[in-house]
Amino acid sequence: MKPRVLVTRHVYPAAIAILQEHCIVDYVDSHDVLDEARLARRLQHAHGVVCQLTDPLTANVVNSAPLLRCIAQIAVGHDNIDVAAATARRIVVTNTPGVLTEATADLTWALLLATARRLPAAEQFLRAGKWQRWEVDLLCGADVHGRTLGLVGFGRIGQAVARRARGFGMRVLYQSRSQAPAAIEQELGAIRVPLDTLLRESDFVSLHVPLRAETTHLVGVEQLCAMKRSAFLINTARGAVVDEAALVAALEEGLIAGAGLDVFEREPELHPGLLALPNVVLLPHVGSAVTSVRSLMCALAAQDCVAVLTGERPKHPVNPQVLA
Ligand code: NAP
Repeated sequence: MKPRVLVTRHVYPAAIAILQEHCIVDYVDSHDVLDEARLARRLQHAHGVVCQLTDPLTANVVNSAPLLRCIAQIAVGHDNIDVAAATARRIVVTNTPGVLTEATADLTWALLLATARRLPAAEQFLRAGKWQRWEVDLLCGADVHGRTLGLVGFGRIGQAVARRARGFGMRVLYQSRSQAPAAIEQELGAIRVPLDTLLRESDFVSLHVPLRAETTHLVGVEQLCAMKRSAFLINTARGAVVDEAALVAALEEGLIAGAGLDVFEREPELHPGLLALPNVVLLPHVGSAVTSVRSLMCALAAQDCVAVLTGERPKHPVNPQVLA
């Protein structure tokens, strides 16, 4: 008998076609999010699930799915999944790294430039009919070229952001648990420094770590105080890597110059203070939002789900120890 796969939300059609070749598909073709109770109920007869970062794959949900063998996430981050609970039950968790690296690095740069050069404010000014003439001090922003970029997390996306910084003649510092290979450091002109040095010396601090217990509120009051008053914080990683309340206070008090945020602690809710601040650029979690990339991510998750359920090795296991 064919295995059963739950697809929790609307996806690109390629994923459904791949799954239907090998599985019976229970497709929730909607943009609504299943809460824990509804997700647990839909998983009662599922051998696999193709899910998204909005789906709460908590220990309770994982443990209440008696037949589950694969959780295939359409994202590289998987902080919505209790991987330890899945591993304990020998359920394979997969994600979709790589295909979204360049798109997310592009978006990081778009956000960095928009924040430094005040692009949303400039566009709103023009659309509101306020533009009368060229003025020497109209909507002036901060230098990017030649400044120092500090990357917290230096994996796929952090390195892709560093590669783009070469074109802006920037000095690149990074902080990561492990040192990058010398050839990469040399190619990207990147220097590994402790976090406090990075915060003290960077004009732009850009976050690229996964959300884990040890990276939750990695940037809080102390770290914001350590940054230059003229510096900007860019976050395209996960919202909870930053203490959002502390960030709002720091921006209100002028402890840092501004922030560009693609991700938030309680998406889609924002800290109420953020919307009132003129020196932030806010995006609705669109880091990898390129049609071809999102379609590839959906297909990759479906392929890995099929691989697990048909006894093949998936391309991107998050907990490979389950496969051993
Ligand atoms: P990656 O290749 O795994 O890189 C993660 C980097 O973070 C590695 O350098 C890793 O260091 C470092 N790291 C992990 N834990 C750390 C810690 N406790 N302290 C300091 N550094 C730590 O991942 P990626 O593909 O670049 O993606 C990074 C994150 O971006 C994802 O987890 C996801 O949450 C986010 N993301 C967001 C969007 C968006 O739409 N905004 C899109 C894609 C990804 P080691 O190598 O030493 O472990």
